[in-house]
Amino acid sequence: MGQPTRARTHTRGLAAIAAALALLVACGTPDDREQPTPTGTTEADTEADTETNSVEEAPEPPADEPSEDLSAETDGADTDPGEEGSATPGTSGSGSVSGDLEVHYLDVGQADATLLLHDEVAVLIDAGNWQRSDVVPALQSAGVETLDLIVITHPHADHIGQFDQIMDAFEVAEVWWSGSITTTQTFERAVAALERSDAAYEEPRAGASTTIGPLAIDIVNPPAGVGLSDLHDAGLGLRITYGEVSLLFTGDAEAATESRMVSSAAEYLTADVLQLGHHGSNTSTTANFLAAVDPAVAIYSAGSGNQYGHPHAEVVDRVTGAGIDLYGTDVHGTVVLTTDGSSWDITAQRQGTPTSGGDGGGASSGGQGSSGGSGSGSGSSGGSEAGPSSGSGSSGACAPDQVDINSAGFDDLQRIHQIGPDRAQQILELRPFSSVHAMDRISGIGPARVTEIIEEGIACAG
Ligand SMILES: [Zn+2]
Repeated sequence: MGQPTRARTHTRGLAAIAAALALLVACGTPDDREQPTPTGTTEADTEADTETNSVEEAPEPPADEPSEDLSAETDGADTDPGEEGSATPGTSGSGSVSGDLEVHYLDVGQADATLLLHDEVAVLIDAGNWQRSDVVPALQSAGVETLDLIVITHPHADHIGQFDQIMDAFEVAEVWWSGSITTTQTFERAVAALERSDAAYEEPRAGASTTIGPLAIDIVNPPAGVGLSDLHDAGLGLRITYGEVSLLFTGDAEAATESRMVSSAAEYLTADVLQLGHHGSNTSTTANFLAAVDPAVAIYSAGSGNQYGHPHAEVVDRVTGAGIDLYGTDVHGTVVLTTDGSSWDITAQRQGTPTSGGDGGGASSGGQGSSGGSGSGSGSSGGSEAGPSSGSGSSGACAPDQVDINSAGFDDLQRIHQIGPDRAQQILELRPFSSVHAMDRISGIGPARVTEIIEEGIACAG
């Protein structure tokens, strides 16, 4: 593998990110802005820190170059994603591929990391959870030596978590990011790793198509010029086609973004295999979107017993009700799809049936029969499920790296998403809180922001 003939070096986007970071440091941290944590052991970041993050002040990288570059530099078999409407919507449709493509939906806990591996090419989509170090070993045991491309859908810590480790462990030819930025330490480590690498850098935009080895790639999100402050909305979405088999990845795109993709890029969405958006959350996988993609197989990545209740019941019901085979890394462990470009086999590490994560029940990982595919577990790695650092706060148990809203000091409280000096002061005055949910007593904190705070996982009520 590894034919980085595409020796492009785009530093403008990266320079813009670096400049934005410098700007953020220079500007200090106004009220309500999430602060990077001063020590490396805890992170004030997970998904869901989108709304008031300082990305809004960041200069957006130029939107002119990426898609043109990407289209212009196809490796010969230029993609023409015009074909549509069938379950085999391959962009090239040629089927002229040789060998197998393996797609490893890695079991990385409450996070995303998916490896596409072929004799000629290795691509990684997202980089796992910031609290773990399982992606590099997983890539090594899969036989990865170099990576032709790393796609980071968006810079939340459950998607860029181990980017720095990966960049340091492997020679990486090219990196695609959405262009959104955030202020977390995980993000800063990722940018530093990118800067010290020789990897080319791109911020592709919807409508661009390219090929890498035998893989045809269509970008389906974000559109050029879209605001980057909502990290989920601006996340990279891409369809990858091998022969006649297509796979769709949309990161943590939610309903509004799915709707935009359906209206603006429907012909690029059809795919045999859909990775469910946002870990199977009910923010995503709307009925319209699912119909537009029309997959035969759906796979989500979520941690066993995760605190968000992923996957949500309505999504599980919607997918299985449509007759789509459903796999989840919480239940099945790492799921490997192997395709010759016309058909595929699926091998799961464990057997089981995805069910809703519920609100606290957790997904069962018991073997209650196969949910399709060959299901012949490889049993290679034991599934130690660390999962996210416990508790949405009502249990009274706080993990060591969490902030107890009933006892933390003024500064520590501001590690929590949405909590600046004013609200930290309110917390001190309003204590005690029966749960994190009760933070809606704080002025300016409504149910939506409480949900974000819970999803962030930093706050707890001891
Ligand atoms: Zn996520």
